[in-house]
Amino acid sequence: MEKTHVLIIGGSAAGIVAAVTTKSFYPDKSVLLVRKEKSMMVPCGIPYIFGTLDYSDQNQVSDAALTDAGVTLKQTEITSIDPEKRI
Ligand SMILES: Cc1cc2nc3c(=O)[nH]c(=O)nc-3n(C[C@H](O)[C@H](O)[C@H](O)COP(=O)(O)OP(=O)(O)OC[C@H]3O[C@@H](n4cnc5c(N)ncnc54)[C@H](O)[C@@H]3O)c2cc1C
Repeated sequence: MEKTHVLIIGGSAAGIVAAVTTKSFYPDKSVLLVRKEKSMMVPCGIPYIFGTLDYSDQNQVSDAALTDAGVTLKQTEITSIDPEKRI
């Protein structure tokens, strides 16, 4: 996998906030966010409770907040990490 200063595994609520916050405090550091999914669903049931959405695939998070902040996205599954070797 390519080199990066900060690797974030998972692109849902926690991953998005971690990536955007990292970039806002350390704009010069490269941030790579890896997620299994091609696109992310909004992790919230409220749109269904209020009946504003018919199908789950209408409930997508835009990647714009990430890409506009300079975060690099990659779709794959991380199968192992070695924190000591940093790989
Ligand atoms: C039906 C339902 C309704 C909900 N409604 C609400 C609500 O109305 N309001 C609210 O605040 N919360 C709601 N929640 C809770 C909310 O979804 C979670 O709190 C939130 O999704 C947690 O975010 P997270 O980023 O910590 O984890 P997750 O959402 O679980 O995201 C983890 C991500 O990491 C990815 N990942 C994991 N392992 C790997 C790997 N090895 N390689 C690559 N990618 C990986 C996963 O594919 C996933 O995309 C709801 C949850 C459910 C199930």
